[in-house]
Amino acid sequence: MEDNFLYDTTVIKVSIADFKPLPEADNQYPLEYVEKYSVIKLKENEDTVYIGICSTGDNALIENLRNFHKKRIVFYEVDKSELAGYLGEKLSLSDEGSGSRQVLDNEKLLLDKLANDAPIINLVNSVMIEAVRKDASDIHIECYSDEAVVRYRIDGYLHTVQHIEKQRFPAVSSRIKIMANLNIMERRLPQDGRITVHLGDDVIDLRVSIIPIADGESIVLRLFNKNKAPIQMDLLGIEEAELVSLKKMFGITHGLVLVSGPTGSGKTTTLNALLRENRSDAVKIITIEDPIEYITEGINQIQTNERIGLTFDTILRRVLRQDPNIIMVGEIRDTQTAELAVRAALTGHLVFSTLHTKDSISVITRLKNMGIEPYLLAAVLKGSIAQRLVRKICRHCAKQRQPSKHEQEILKSRGFPSDSKLSEGQGCSSCNNTGYRGRTGIFELYTSDEELESMISKNLREAEIRAYLTSKKVKTLTDDGLQKAINGITTISEVERAIFG
Ligand SMILES: [Zn+2]
Repeated sequence: MEDNFLYDTTVIKVSIADFKPLPEADNQYPLEYVEKYSVIKLKENEDTVYIGICSTGDNALIENLRNFHKKRIVFYEVDKSELAGYLGEKLSLSDEGSGSRQVLDNEKLLLDKLANDAPIINLVNSVMIEAVRKDASDIHIECYSDEAVVRYRIDGYLHTVQHIEKQRFPAVSSRIKIMANLNIMERRLPQDGRITVHLGDDVIDLRVSIIPIADGESIVLRLFNKNKAPIQMDLLGIEEAELVSLKKMFGITHGLVLVSGPTGSGKTTTLNALLRENRSDAVKIITIEDPIEYITEGINQIQTNERIGLTFDTILRRVLRQDPNIIMVGEIRDTQTAELAVRAALTGHLVFSTLHTKDSISVITRLKNMGIEPYLLAAVLKGSIAQRLVRKICRHCAKQRQPSKHEQEILKSRGFPSDSKLSEGQGCSSCNNTGYRGRTGIFELYTSDEELESMISKNLREAEIRAYLTSKKVKTLTDDGLQKAINGITTISEVERAIFG
């Protein structure tokens, strides 16, 4: 590389990385100086010192350095964000075994400063804005041995969207910690926090979780868009016939209605739509949620907080004294909550809740296993919904095709015409080349009747109950999914994945 002297009018821009290893400790400027003046010693030998500076026009600084070194100086221009990355790396290294308060305070000041550096702020902001624009549900930022990776979860799938130089990761992590009001010096213990950001008219709530991993930290930001128009019942993806029987349940004044499915199957969205349909001046609705995902006008929403003893069952006990008509319990996880929910349903309340079971029939067995007497369950259970989310075929690149042999067999086994035309996304810019865009629910649901009540109270086996519901033409998750595949909404492979994992 050609030397550039102070009096040269042009200063070559270089990368700090090309000079590694840099002079260390006493051979380097103090970190505070590096940070304050954005200057770094890149290399030094007997007669020459090579210095990287960010603001090449700072004549006072240049003069000071000349006076200090009293030897030949070659100046190079270095990138401010790269220098910030170098400092971040230094600071994360010096964290090991640094005992003195003074050191820690200096580091904190530096990290604070770094994290508030414009390039880092822009980087973190752009990661968040892009996530909202792409409808991501989560942002994952993970630091590995040679780089940090940013991934978005979109429609349930992770996609890598950006690689960040490892040196910049500490500053990115600090920036997020500052936004979430967390301790930026803590890099050994997990931390949780919350960030609220305003993007245009949208208010985005981000739940932040930071966990140390072998090579740094794993940062996960879960996005909740509070202003996003809530999904209406009719748009959940419930077929007309099922919607009619579901809406019949709205007339019920007491009883238990359950929604089941694994985590991330859209249960909360369905429950929220159910509650909104039930909202009126004449009813008081209280929800107990973990966490509150959508704020809904006219509904009293309570957030659980295990740390201070506010669990589902303790809150539910109190809520019963508030004279509600409808109670939504985010999830029935244990016997106490199950018993309270049943008791509330028996004493004139309409209770909505969710359970982690594979289908709408196994909720009966699950509640019995939790200690609910069959005759009580028979008396309160008014309806059960099971659901999964499937990705929708991208409508910009969908094409019809003949079903494969495997698909024909599946269709035939469930009584659908095996020559039904199916659709498939070809992949385009609007679907990130995945062939899918957005998701919809597939459902199985039934409402109780006298026969079913009697079967439950007699403690009949699941198989017998299933046979009865089949005779009543209750559509299963698979049937609903296959129907949606034939209708060109999703694919059979999506349905298989959603149901069988
Ligand atoms: Zn597409």
